Amino acid sequence: MISIEQALEKILSYVDILDEEQRSILDCPGQVLAEDVYSNIDIPPLDNSAMDGYAVRSKDTRGASHQSPRRLRVIDTVAAGSIPQYGVKPGTAIRIMTGAPISKGADSVVRFEDTDEAQGKKFPDEIGILSEVEVGLNIRQAGEDITTGSKVLSKGTVIRPPEVGVLASLGRSMVKVIRRPVVAILATGDELVDINQPPAAGKIYNSNTYSVAAQVGRYGGIPQILGIALDSEGSLVSRLRNGLAADMLITIGGVSLGDYDVVKDVLAKEGEIAFWTVQMKPGKPLAFGTIKAGVARNIPLLGLPGNPVSSMVTFELFARPAILKMMGKKNLAKPTIEAIIENHIVNSDGRRILARVIVEKRDGQYFARLTGPQGSGILTSMTSANGLAIIPEDKAGVEKGDAVQVMMLDWSEEI
Ligand code: AMP
Ligand code: MG
Repeated sequence: MISIEQALEKILSYVDILDEEQRSILDCPGQVLAEDVYSNIDIPPLDNSAMDGYAVRSKDTRGASHQSPRRLRVIDTVAAGSIPQYGVKPGTAIRIMTGAPISKGADSVVRFEDTDEAQGKKFPDEIGILSEVEVGLNIRQAGEDITTGSKVLSKGTVIRPPEVGVLASLGRSMVKVIRRPVVAILATGDELVDINQPPAAGKIYNSNTYSVAAQVGRYGGIPQILGIALDSEGSLVSRLRNGLAADMLITIGGVSLGDYDVVKDVLAKEGEIAFWTVQMKPGKPLAFGTIKAGVARNIPLLGLPGNPVSSMVTFELFARPAILKMMGKKNLAKPTIEAIIENHIVNSDGRRILARVIVEKRDGQYFARLTGPQGSGILTSMTSANGLAIIPEDKAGVEKGDAVQVMMLDWSEEI
């Protein structure tokens, strides 16, 4: 049995960052930028107003106050999107809207609230300025956000909503990113029926394909569902063939020591086994290796255990980082926090326990309590959990009140 760290290192050594693709900026959040993005424009393109008000020469506002307004002649109105026709000369002002370019001659903008327009009629011929303004007040400088020729986003950046916005502000509709991995998912088991079939006696619904497909999607991969294989080598191999164009294969179930656990045999015959069994609970019977998909192509295959909790937990620990690595991400670890455990947990067989817990913060301190019974078939323990408390393999357990590390399942790696 190898440790979780050894297993992860092995799996990651078999997967590589994928190739690049051009994508619409609307489709690429969560993907990694595969180019340095430079700007060929200034943003904003022109000096413009940060307020609705009057573009003025600041000199003309000297001494202005509510008691003695400075009166200026209004010579024009400029809206955002239009170009001013006139310059501001001594004694004049131009009514200006937020985002509209600043007229020649003006060096500041007095907002409406600091003029007597606020009290009087709109579009006056003359305006009273009620306060002095400094040079540059309420003016956004051309290029203050982005200057022509500058590097705006670097290769390797994970695209989030602000990056999408910046790309749009540069007029980019497409961008080069690392493509998403296709992950083919095959459930195994004579007892399984698909969720749109009637459940015959002795059969259960195939739930793991769906939880795992949702996990693939959550971390940015594209799930390819291969259906359900029977517990025979022939059925497994023929179903797996439909997934040979994928970047990774995931089988679920059939990796234990039972009579019908044939995934290892298929791995050995159709490729090679890198390891089998990891020192963890749940999820000990985890298999990993490669399947031959052509002369020079071997696809990594992760054989997850079939118990619904085990398949989800092993996915989090091993498939998730592999997907993130293929996507070009650098932070592969889920955030881990220290919490006070509120239960007594026994570790009887020297494996690392990943207990489903509910983490809450009280008085600045995290507390973690078990979701309830921890059987690896109790999938609802995953729906109520927001973390996995880690009980080390070299400890006989933890007492209520001990500090434990908790892997936070819903926190992003990208912090
Ligand atoms: P196995 O690893 O194939 O021995 O399966 C362990 C347990 O998980 C058995 O009780 C299976 O019925 C159950 N199981 C395996 N695959 C699935 C699946 N796709 N959906 C729901 N339960 C499953
Ligand atoms: Mg099975």
